[in-house]
Amino acid sequence: MESTKPKKLDQVKAVFTQQNQNETNPLTIFVALSSSKGEGNYLVAATYIKGQIVIAHDCPAIQLKRSCWHTEVVLYIFQTIFSHQPEIASARTVFMSKKITMKRDWVQIPHSYIQGVNQNEHRKLLA
Ligand SMILES: [Zn+2]
Repeated sequence: MESTKPKKLDQVKAVFTQQNQNETNPLTIFVALSSSKGEGNYLVAATYIKGQIVIAHDCPAIQLKRSCWHTEVVLYIFQTIFSHQPEIASARTVFMSKKITMKRDWVQIPHSYIQGVNQNEHRKLLA
């Protein structure tokens, strides 16, 4: 699936994942976005679980079960990173209101993945 780049992609500060992803530890990313007031970061989590992409964060729109720019940006990044897994492109998205806090075991994902550059291209660019 070729999705269009969200306008607010430039608000992404960093993308993290968990170490040791397996069945008990599903595919998850955490995205740090600029807060709307421009102070500090705002964390959003996306997890692929039971055939659904669950996007969790704490904002007024999500409490009303509405999509917001945070959701749009994080869904785009999630689908870009896991574009080699077709079940993710067709998965239903659900929203969850939950405050996400930074964890010590998160690993940062290189920026090239976020921009949709795959690993081979990345190697080519480094060579
Ligand atoms: Zn939001």
